Amino acid sequence: MHSQADGAIAVAGDRCLPERREIIKRLATTHTRIRPLAVDLCGSGISERDPTTGFFVRSVGPRLITRLFAEADRTRDTLFALWLDLDRFRQVNDSFGYAEADAVIVRIAERIRSVVGARRTLLRMGSDEFVALLPALDVQSAERIAGQLLVIIDQPMPLGSILFRPSVSIGIASRHAADNPLSLLERADRAMMEAKRQGGNRFIMKAAEPPRGVSGAQLAREELEVESILHAALENGGLELHYQPIVRPNGSLEAVEALMRCSVGGRQVSPLQFIPVAEKTGLIVRLGEWSLLQSTRCAARLRRQGCRAKVAVNVSRVQLTSPSFLSVLHAALICANVPPEGIELELTESIFMDVSPIVQANLRGARAAGVGLAIDDFGTGYSSLSNLKDLPATKLKFDRAFINALPDDRRAFTILRAITRLAGELGMVVVAEGIETPEQLAAAEAAGVDATQGFLHARPMSEEALLEWMISR
Ligand code: C2E
Ligand code: MG
Ligand code: MG
Repeated sequence: MHSQADGAIAVAGDRCLPERREIIKRLATTHTRIRPLAVDLCGSGISERDPTTGFFVRSVGPRLITRLFAEADRTRDTLFALWLDLDRFRQVNDSFGYAEADAVIVRIAERIRSVVGARRTLLRMGSDEFVALLPALDVQSAERIAGQLLVIIDQPMPLGSILFRPSVSIGIASRHAADNPLSLLERADRAMMEAKRQGGNRFIMKAAEPPRGVSGAQLAREELEVESILHAALENGGLELHYQPIVRPNGSLEAVEALMRCSVGGRQVSPLQFIPVAEKTGLIVRLGEWSLLQSTRCAARLRRQGCRAKVAVNVSRVQLTSPSFLSVLHAALICANVPPEGIELELTESIFMDVSPIVQANLRGARAAGVGLAIDDFGTGYSSLSNLKDLPATKLKFDRAFINALPDDRRAFTILRAITRLAGELGMVVVAEGIETPEQLAAAEAAGVDATQGFLHARPMSEEALLEWMISR
C-alpha cells in the first residue's frame, strides 16, 4: 500500500503478504478514510459474541440483563448473577503467551458451559472474567452451581510442558426488589473480589458493603459509561491524537508525542480515565492500532514538510502481548509510507514489571525493524537498572514527578545528571518530561538531558495546530 499526498490509500496488493493484507483490512475498520474498503472486506457490524468463547461480549451485558429483569418481573422469578474470575491467570498469559492463554480460555469456557447449560446467558467481561446470568433458581441451587464450577474448573489441563491446575473465584449476587442491572453486576463483582481476598478458589454469596464515601456501584457504572463512550468513539469518530513537542536545547524538534483524546457528545474523557478501561476490556488493541495508523500518517506529513522529528506513540502492555503487534506496526508504516525511524514507541514502566517472552519478542522485533523504543515515566514505580541493561531501548524519559523537584532538590538533580550520563553511555537519548518553568528547563539542561517536553514549550495540540506552531517559531 502507498499513501498518496492527500492521505488516501491506494492498494498495491502484490506488494503485501496475504497475512499483512488481512491486518491492513482489519485496521481499516478503525480508520475512517479507508472505512468503505473495510465495509466491503469485513462484512457487517461488530459482533455481539466473543470469538474465543462464544459468550456475549461485555458491552451487551446491560441490555441482556435489562431483558432478564423484565422477564423476571413478568414471571415473578429470581435472578442470580455469578461473576467468575480465574486466579493467577496473568501468570499464564505472561509465561505461555497469548495463544496458549487463549486455548486455556476456550477450555474454561467449555467447562463453564457444561455446568451452567448452553442456553443460559453467558458473558465474557474481561480476558479471564465471565458472568453467568441464572434466572428462576433458589439460593441452594445457585450455590450448588457455583460449587460445581469450582470443581470442574479445578481439573488439570495440559499447558505447554506442564499440567496446569486452574482455579477460579466466584461472586454470587441475587436480584433485589429495587435493583438495577448495573448494581446487580456490581454486587457480584464485589463478592468475587472478596473471594479473591480470602485466597481465591472459592465462592462468596454476599459481599460486604463498599467503604463509605466510595460507591462501588458508582465506580462500576462510570467504567461501563467510559467503555460505551470508547465504543461510540471507535465506531462513529470521537478519537483524536494531540501532539506535544519534545525540544532540544538548540530549539530544534527532537520528536512529538502523540497523546490520545476522546470526546463523544460533548463529553471529554481523560486518557488517565479511559486508557485503564480500554486495557481492562481489550479495546486498547483497537485504540492502539488506530493510534499507530494516525501517528504514522502524521510522521509522513511532518516529513513532507521537511521535518525529521519522530512521532512517539504510547503503547500499552496489553498491545505488546498480541502476536500480531509487529504485523500491525509494519502495516501502519507501509500504509503511511514512513521509514521505521520516523516513529518511536513509548513504553510505560508497568511493561517492565515482568517482561514475558511474547512482549520481549515484540520489543526486539520492533527494534530490529528500526523503530525506536522509549522507556516512559522513568524514575517512578518500577524503575530498575536491569531495564536499562536488558531492554533494547533507545530513549529514556524522566517522569514529571522527578522533574517537579527541580531546581531546589540537589539530590534529585545529582541523580538526574548521573542517570543521564549513564544512559548517554548506553547510547540512549534522555528526555525530561513535565517542564513547566524556565528554572526547571535550566536545571534539566544543566544536568545534560538531550531534550525536554512540557507545558513551558507547548501543551499537546491538534495536528494542524502543531504545524502552525512549527512555522511560527
Ligand atoms: P505520558 O505518556 O507520560 O504523557 C505525558 C502526560 O503528561 C500527558 O498527559 C501530557 O499532557 C502531560 N504533560 C505534558 N507536559 C506536562 C507539564 O508540563 N505539566 C503537566 N502537569 N503535565 C504535562 P495526558 O495526555 O493526560 O496522558 C496521560 C497518560 O495517558 C500518558 O502519560 C500515557 O501514559 C497515557 N496515554 C495517552 N495517550 C495514550 C495512547 O495513545 N496510548 C496509550 N497506551 N496510553 C496513552
Ligand atoms: Mg508517553
Ligand atoms: Mg511520560
